Amino acid sequence: MRIEIVTIGDELLLGFTIDTNAAHLARELAAVGVEIVHRTTVGDDAGDIADAVKTAIGRTGAVITTGGLGPTSDDLTKPSIAALFGRKMIRDEVILEALKARWARYRRLGPFPESNVAQAMIPEGATIIPNQHGSAPGIWLEDSGGRWVAMLPGVPREMKGMLADELLPRIVERVKRAGETPTVVRSRTLRTTGIAESALADQLGDLARGVDGLALAFLPSTESVDLRLTSRGLTSDAADAALAAGVLKLRGAAGRYVYGEDGADLAETVLDACRRRGVKLSVAESCTGGLLGARLTAIPGSSDVFMGGVIAYDNSIKRGWLGVTDKDLEDHGAVSEEVATTMAKSVREKTKTDIGIGITGVAGPGGGTAAKPVGMVWVALDGIGTQARCLRLFGTRNEVRQRAAQAALDMVRRSLETG
Ligand code: ATP
Ligand code: MG
Repeated sequence: MRIEIVTIGDELLLGFTIDTNAAHLARELAAVGVEIVHRTTVGDDAGDIADAVKTAIGRTGAVITTGGLGPTSDDLTKPSIAALFGRKMIRDEVILEALKARWARYRRLGPFPESNVAQAMIPEGATIIPNQHGSAPGIWLEDSGGRWVAMLPGVPREMKGMLADELLPRIVERVKRAGETPTVVRSRTLRTTGIAESALADQLGDLARGVDGLALAFLPSTESVDLRLTSRGLTSDAADAALAAGVLKLRGAAGRYVYGEDGADLAETVLDACRRRGVKLSVAESCTGGLLGARLTAIPGSSDVFMGGVIAYDNSIKRGWLGVTDKDLEDHGAVSEEVATTMAKSVREKTKTDIGIGITGVAGPGGGTAAKPVGMVWVALDGIGTQARCLRLFGTRNEVRQRAAQAALDMVRRSLETG
């Protein structure tokens, strides 16, 4: 089945509201094998709404709209689409009674507002899509040729609830009735870090163009490059099997750059690995200013692995708290292998942990020199996997800091895999 989405609202066109409804609808429908072939957004204008729905229904015969169902005068969806179908608007007494009851239940002040009556007006011959999550009901309107428009409210929470409760089951039923084999669009994602998108593509070779009929997308972000494998047109079981096989191949090819699947967080991967081996962690952070500690403590239950540490931003703290020597600071500077190494070692000894992590670098935008440019960061581990690495990171100050924290976590992950 092919469906079009029309989202309605001036605020969407003005960019004040991000169109999360269309994204949510597309994801949920794809999961039941329905293909979204067009997405349109129009303002609160009766003519524009009718135009958009007319064009959409001409292409697919199946349209979902969101927005413009409320009681206010800018809510024009129902009458515009009713006119398109050549239907009158009639008052639905059941809806009106329900609205009145709802009004009374919440004991709002004053009499039932006249403008609410508009919500009880529906196109003649329409089916009501009940709304358990708010007041405006949805509308299902279908012509004699089986072409239909489903109108949902704009409020995302209500739209999502009604989609799950009412509309998806209805659509799945229609797919079955049409004798189509129910297929799904399903994805699995591998998360990689420590390698650029282009280098990863090279490493994957032929697989970079897709794995056994599954589409492969490269999704780079500040900290990771995700590999998303997507199956289309298969039944649920076949999709799961194809994805499992595809993921296995990809894992083989991407090797140690892979740190997890789907929503995995590297901090959580690291904490799990530490927990399994009874390893405790501490941090001494300069340019990341606590970001690494924040990543670790964001994960519930981190306290059995992560002991704490120090934000040693100024040299006086590096000296006084971590025993970094004046000589090292003078000879090599604060951003150096020597200083990172001492930071890692001292924090590990002071906190009595198994791995100490030291980070010192130039986050920018100022403070870079020819020898130590912005983005140069030293990360040292002490204890398990003792080492120091000089990273050359790019991006804004915040990106450099995020990438440094991520790289430090990845060094711990790899050390635990080998060590
Ligand atoms: P109401 O009964 O509250 O008037 P409605 O069906 O008339 O609901 P709108 O008035 O169009 O819907 O929008 C209600 C709220 O939902 C607004 O705050 C709007 O920003 C938000 N909203 C509308 N459409 C979308 C969308 N496509 N994506 C995300 N949010 C949306
Ligand atoms: Mg409204």
